[in-house]
Amino acid sequence: MPRIMSAIFITAVLTLATFAEAGEEGDTIFQTSTIDALMDGVYDGDFTFGALKKRGDFGIGTFNGLDGEMIAVDGVFYRVRSDGKVFVAPDAARTPFAAVTFFEADRTVTLAKEMSCKELEDYIETLLPSKNIFYALRVEGSFKNVKTRSVPKQERPFPPLTEAVKRQSYFELEDARGTMAGFWLPEYVKNLNAAGFHLHFITSDKEAGGHVLGCTTGDVKIEIDYSTGLDISLPETSDFLNADLTITDGKEVKAAEEEKK
Ligand code: ZN
Repeated sequence: MPRIMSAIFITAVLTLATFAEAGEEGDTIFQTSTIDALMDGVYDGDFTFGALKKRGDFGIGTFNGLDGEMIAVDGVFYRVRSDGKVFVAPDAARTPFAAVTFFEADRTVTLAKEMSCKELEDYIETLLPSKNIFYALRVEGSFKNVKTRSVPKQERPFPPLTEAVKRQSYFELEDARGTMAGFWLPEYVKNLNAAGFHLHFITSDKEAGGHVLGCTTGDVKIEIDYSTGLDISLPETSDFLNADLTITDGKEVKAAEEEKK
């Protein structure tokens, strides 16, 4: 009995130490707008990339008009357009929806085993110390393949996201080196951001990428940043202020994020 007690005590101390680190300054995810507003067709935001850079050096999102997928790695914000071309986002460009953080790995695991994206996600879930906090995820290395998508620029009147993604472009990247960036968020945030995994990808040569739909890993390094803060800035645009945000649910978000050919 005393041995069991001390084992429990050690586990508790380790857990607290881990979460003390997570509580340090910088472990906050910042986002502009909400996933439900994006689902509802609020595709023009008022938040600039210049301002977003002050809130994080790592993250994902999109651009005004839904003009491409955004991935930020090491402080550089990239746009993967629907024609597959990659550009660095100018500071003056605006986003209707993005989530960023200053990435600092709390846990690093190397994986030298071929896995599908589904297997990779199941494995990452086993590494999360709790399903009740937020995580930024970075998976870097070689991939046998990565299937991505990007959405074409939308024109007003904007259709809902479930319609817009029907015209998305697909990219099959074979033997790609690069970085997946994104988040795992608890189910309870589903009206604010995508629950579960949401990952974007960019190749090391910054020539290709997009929103991740599937993959097969090669040798990768998984880094997890435990986050206990969520800071949301809502747009002050008339589109956002007048949107009906009572109608979407998490199922529509999943459909839009996982839309297949
Ligand atoms: Zn995405």
